[in-house]
This record gives sequence, structure tokens and C-alpha cells, in this order.
Amino acid sequence: MKASLLPVLTIALAATVACRREPPLPVTKRCVLMGTEVTVTAWDGARSSEEIGNAIDAAFARMKTLENVLSRHDETSDLSRLNRRAGEGPVEVDAGLLAVLRRARDAFDTSGGAFDPTVGPLVDLWIAAAKNDRVPSMEAVRTARERTGFDRVRIDEKAGTVSLPEGFALDLGGIAKGYIVDAGASVLREAGIRNGLLEAGGDLYAFGARPGGGAWRVGVQDPAAGESVSARLIARLAVSDRGVTTSGHYRRFSVIEGKRFSHILDPRTGFPVEQAVLSVTVIAPDAAEADGLSTAVAVLGRDDGLARIDSLPGVEALVVEAGDEGGYAFFESSGFSAYAR
Ligand code: AMP
Ligand code: MG
Repeated sequence: MKASLLPVLTIALAATVACRREPPLPVTKRCVLMGTEVTVTAWDGARSSEEIGNAIDAAFARMKTLENVLSRHDETSDLSRLNRRAGEGPVEVDAGLLAVLRRARDAFDTSGGAFDPTVGPLVDLWIAAAKNDRVPSMEAVRTARERTGFDRVRIDEKAGTVSLPEGFALDLGGIAKGYIVDAGASVLREAGIRNGLLEAGGDLYAFGARPGGGAWRVGVQDPAAGESVSARLIARLAVSDRGVTTSGHYRRFSVIEGKRFSHILDPRTGFPVEQAVLSVTVIAPDAAEADGLSTAVAVLGRDDGLARIDSLPGVEALVVEAGDEGGYAFFESSGFSAYAR
């Protein structure tokens, strides 16, 4: 009798152990890309830690490849090659660059031109102004502004070519980071991983659930806190299958003749955006869309910016301004509070 019970007990014990299995542990890896620390966390009960780690490495590799295509600082990038050939007619470009330009076109259209990746000549003008500590002349601003306007850039999807008018220069700093974060997420998903969070200097994409279940919890940093990771948070969000990006004049600015200037330019005037808006956080279906729109809302300002956000499905925003009596004043799009925790 006793002997015959043993296999039954063994099976029952094995079943209990299987049921009590710990929830799968997330794998986190970090890498410096795009001049910032990128952190990827991923987990999936059906994948080993080794498989997840390899998928994260593949995501980093894809992100690095795209950075090399889209960087304006790197003279050998496809983007720099295209900019050097402005005025020469159609130039064949990398598929990744073409895809980002497609997304940039959407941001340009939905923002009424407030997001405009042809701001390159203006960006250069204001960088030189900061170096010389001299505000550029109206004449210099006008000349640079004449070399902007995304509606004058010809993109031939079939031929895979882009034509820039003479003197033009694309600057994808307002959308590339979001696009690259999304591309990393696609690599993880293609490897069959169902849950992940990819974060690059405050811009992120989250998919699936956080370890243990439920939407991923992410924080929005205090505009005054700079790049510090341990910075105070001004909002806590719960997001899944969403990109979240923040644009702020507080983070990157220059001082010219004793005055602070934003790194975000108003394509309509050629001048840096006045700093009424301290920061804009946008939640969108992916990080590329969020990135383009957060830059656009920083240009448009609170009222126009939030009105446009409210007209877009699946997109929400939080605008932070200085309060009347110190501190901050917060302004939200109509559905933002659904993400707040
Ligand atoms: P972000 O931090 O995403 O708001 O991007 C800011 C960067 O986008 C700047 O450093 C410029 O490289 C670029 N940029 C500046 N102004 C604009 C604009 N109006 N539209 C598109 N890109 C811009
Ligand atoms: Mg942006």
C-alpha cells in the first residue's frame, strides 16, 4: 500500500512546486546611446533570461545602427550625407531615414508646421550665436529662415530618394530619439517578448505589463531637476503600449548676452521659443509620435498646443508652466487624467 502511494505523492508535490513557481524575473540592461543612458527592462514567462538578454542586446544594436544613420553630429551618417547634397536633386537614402521622415511629415502636418525638421540652418545659427555670445542680426535670422520649410522637401517613397533645396539642412533632434526607442521595442516584440519598457533620457516606450501585472509605472521629472535620475517627480503615470516623451526648455538651453534661450526654435519667427512653457509631456500610441508632438506643443504654447492634442485620437499631454505665486501650474489635455496615478 505504502509503496504504491509514492508515485502519486511525487506527482502531487511536483504539481505544487510548478504552481508555486515565482513570477518571471525581468531582465534590465543599460547602454549609452544618443548621448544619454538608455535602460531597457523586459520580461516574459515563456522566455529564459538568456533569451531576453540576447533580445535586448539585439535591440541596442538596432538602436545604435539607427543612431548612426540619423545623427547630425556624425559626418558619416546618412543624414549628414543628405544635408551635404542639398540642392543636388534626389539623393537615395537609408530606409530608416525615409521612415523617420514619414513620421516627421505627420508631426509637421498635425502641428501646422510648428514641428519642422528643416530647422537645421536656424539651429546652426543659434549655436554659433551662443558660441560668440552675440544675438544674431534680424538679417541673419531671416536668411536662415528662408532656408527652412518641410513642404519644400521632396520625398519619393517609391524611389527611396529625398531632395533638399539648396542651403537646407534637416535636423531630426526633435523626433529621432522617440523613433529609435520604438525601433528597439519592435526588435523585442519580434523576438516574441511581450512586456518591456525602453527609456532614453526621459523619453520612453512601454508595452505589455509591468512585472507582476498591470500597466507600467513611469514618472515625469521636475522641470527644474535637470538630468538627475533621482530627481523629484511631478507626475506618476501608468501606461501600456504607449510612448511618453518630454520636451523642456529647462533641459537644454544656451545663454547669449546674459539671456537664456531655448534649444527649441519657432519656425514661424526663426527665434528660440519664449519660455512660458517649462515642459511638455506627451503620451501617444508610440514614442515617435509623442516626440514630434512634445516638441510641437513647446512651440505652439499651452492653449494652441493642448487644443491640437485634444483633436488627436489616443494622444494626451501635460503642460507645466511657472505658477503665479511660485511653484508650478499644470495644464492637461482632456483625457490625461486617465493615465495619472
Ligand atoms: P525635443 O527635445 O524632442 O523637443 O527636441 C529638441 C530638438 O529638436 C532641438 O535640439 C533641435 O535639434 C530640434 N528642433 C528645434 N526646434 C524644432 C522645431 N520647431 N521642430 C522640429 N525640431 C526642432
Ligand atoms: Mg521631440
